[in-house]
Amino acid sequence: MAAHICTRFCINKFRESITFIQRRHRVKAKWAATRPKFPATDLALQNFDTTYNMQLGDLWPSVRVAMLSEQKYGALINNFSSTTNVISGLEAQGCRDFINVDCSRNEAHQHSQDILKPADLQPSINPDIKCLVFPQGDISRFKPARPDSSGLLGYYLLDAASVLPVLALDVQPGQTVLDLCAAPGGKTLALLQTHTVNFLWANDLSGSRTARLRRTLKSYLPKEFLEEDKIHVTSIDGRKLGLTEEKSFDRVLVDVPCTTDRHSVMVEENNLFKGSRTKERQQLPLLQTQLLVAGIQATRKGGDIVYSTCSLSQLQNECVVQQAISLALEDLGITVQVQDLGWFTQRFFDSFHFASHLNVGELVLPHLCANFGPIYMCKLRRMS
Ligand code: SAM
Repeated sequence: MAAHICTRFCINKFRESITFIQRRHRVKAKWAATRPKFPATDLALQNFDTTYNMQLGDLWPSVRVAMLSEQKYGALINNFSSTTNVISGLEAQGCRDFINVDCSRNEAHQHSQDILKPADLQPSINPDIKCLVFPQGDISRFKPARPDSSGLLGYYLLDAASVLPVLALDVQPGQTVLDLCAAPGGKTLALLQTHTVNFLWANDLSGSRTARLRRTLKSYLPKEFLEEDKIHVTSIDGRKLGLTEEKSFDRVLVDVPCTTDRHSVMVEENNLFKGSRTKERQQLPLLQTQLLVAGIQATRKGGDIVYSTCSLSQLQNECVVQQAISLALEDLGITVQVQDLGWFTQRFFDSFHFASHLNVGELVLPHLCANFGPIYMCKLRRMS
């Protein structure tokens, strides 16, 4: 009898503990299911509200509204296709080339700002790069580009401000160029429009994105041009190219991975503000610095580097540039000098809204009337 009571007692205890465990699990499962989940786009906006409010002050509310509104595009004209009809067709829709625009208004502005420099100090703008945009305040959309009789597409749609780093790089005839983080290839295509590049190495760590870059090149460049061995496409960690390609290039474009601010507040897919990508996001400034140092190392003495991002973040922009300049000197004994891009803000003040008073580089701020950017760029010259 005693043994029976004992057994029943044990069974009851066992049941109780099972129930307890089940209940605990149920409670935990319920807690997990009802845990508040914030979309990554909301987390990005919260993050930006804190950091950019401090960084941009009174400007942030208007930049914020622009970033949450539809972005404007530019049509980068493909000089390898039959362009006459393409350009006239776009002009008939009211578009204009923001690069080769009549500069008289801008010059008047330059006079008023009293910042005219001697002519030989004015950097050149390559007239072969053409990018058409709808006028300020006109939010019409471009139709998808159509192939010409040779099957080449007439234009490439991109944020018009992202052509600025390519213009700032100012590639001269016969020069060699390294595009360190090149995919999907908008800036590579812009670089090739000049027809002056002697050799272009387009690299990107991501294999799938490099494949996309190759597809882009095939859609825009004649087969014969691609077979000339003027373009080299690779999928290598750009940080390695500093050492392996030391002092090899006249021009290096370092268009780094960043928080892609506009994408981060608008698109959930592939968003860097997802909890699972926090570490990757926090390590961006380190990766960006290492890529810029590699870009500096791959540049020959007297050559130029342009660093660019599509973020407003001071930490990913000016701080990275300043850190890379220090590291290049301390670790590699390389001196680099920041090049003044003030002339850009003067020349293109009609088309873009630039931030003022940056320590180094220039920043295009999104604005409802000219909803391009953000694009940050800084030009450096290797002195030793
Ligand atoms: N320049 C491109 C264009 O205009 O189309 C956009 C480049 S995107 C801002 C940054 C690129 O850097 C991404 O395609 C990414 O795959 C690549 N990337 C990330 N880490 C890299 C690394 N360590 N080395 C080289 N490329 C890298």
